[in-house]
Amino acid sequence: MVASAFIRRGFGDEFLERLVGPLVDGCIVGDVNQVSLSFVYPELQRLYDEDSNLMTKAVKVLNIINRFEPAAFRWGMATLPGVLGKRLGLAVRTHTTVESIERCPEGGFLVRTESASDSVICDAVVLATPAWTSAQLISNLSTELTTRLINLPYTSLATVNLSYRKDAFKTPFPQKGLFLTRDMGNKALSIIPTSLLFRKRAPKGEILLTAFCGGDAHPEVMECDDAVLATNVQSILEKTCGISEEPQFVSVSRINQMIPQFNVGHGETINEIEDAINDIPGIYLTGGYFRGPSLSSSIDHATDVVRKAIENLKAHVACGQRLV
Ligand SMILES: Cc1cc2nc3c(=O)[nH]c(=O)nc-3n(C[C@H](O)[C@H](O)[C@H](O)COP(=O)(O)OP(=O)(O)OC[C@H]3O[C@@H](n4cnc5c(N)ncnc54)[C@H](O)[C@@H]3O)c2cc1C
Repeated sequence: MVASAFIRRGFGDEFLERLVGPLVDGCIVGDVNQVSLSFVYPELQRLYDEDSNLMTKAVKVLNIINRFEPAAFRWGMATLPGVLGKRLGLAVRTHTTVESIERCPEGGFLVRTESASDSVICDAVVLATPAWTSAQLISNLSTELTTRLINLPYTSLATVNLSYRKDAFKTPFPQKGLFLTRDMGNKALSIIPTSLLFRKRAPKGEILLTAFCGGDAHPEVMECDDAVLATNVQSILEKTCGISEEPQFVSVSRINQMIPQFNVGHGETINEIEDAINDIPGIYLTGGYFRGPSLSSSIDHATDVVRKAIENLKAHVACGQRLV
């Protein structure tokens, strides 16, 4: 069932459009009219049968949808592979693009990179790339798996970072962030107080805010000028926090087709993908699209997949066989 149908039936249109919709847009960059209830919010379904009054249930709904934990590394996500690279030395190659994965006639796989000297032959491959990239990389290994992966929808996002003097805020900025309805958002879905959530993100006396703009609600942001996007966010901040001065710092970046969409039918597609992977021994897939939109669910899935790969490799080595 689509999440909006459940909310509309239990709580009405206004609760959906003014509260739940903006939270879904802002927390997972998903469209409440398409998001799968059972995949993303399975706990909500159980609320139906709960014996409590409407207000208690409504508060629980908002807590469930807003449970997304902010997580970030100070210098960005590249910190994680960077640290692994340092610890494991030559075994890890960073800044290397994989172009294809091919089966070797003698067994194993050739992982072909942009530079032939960096290509490697290995017994097993774990792909942790977005679904559409994994589809391209394994396209000559399984048509069925490629088709399923390529059909998983992703959306794009622009982030606008602005830093203001603390005194510029006439109203304190909400600690949990500002979630915007589609009519007031002016291309922005949410704005979070980055320097209040994470340490050392702004100079003393300033507050750094990050606005997330775009998603399927506003795909046009990917083509917008940086200045237009920044001005849009500034006008929202003027209306909501009374900020009338120019920011001390502005930076805009864009993330193209990097956010998986967990729409109705996603769970079934993931089951089909898992079945299709089992038909290619030695190939493993992981990534945010498997278990949900958070960093922690991606790490949990990756851990499980790597354990499975190691167990399979050990079992084959123990009986003197190659995996493929
Ligand atoms: C702006 C933004 C803010 C977020 N904030 C939060 C948050 O506060 N809390 C939270 O829990 N989650 C957050 N998330 C979600 C979180 O980042 C994702 O759930 C997580 O990063 C998914 O991990 P992943 O490994 O699947 O994908 P990614 O982190 O996207 O990693 C995929 C990797 O594959 C690499 N790659 C792609 N193609 C190739 C190729 N051909 N060869 C080699 N490498 C390749 C890419 O360079 C990238 O490093 C946020 C996401 C975004 C976009």
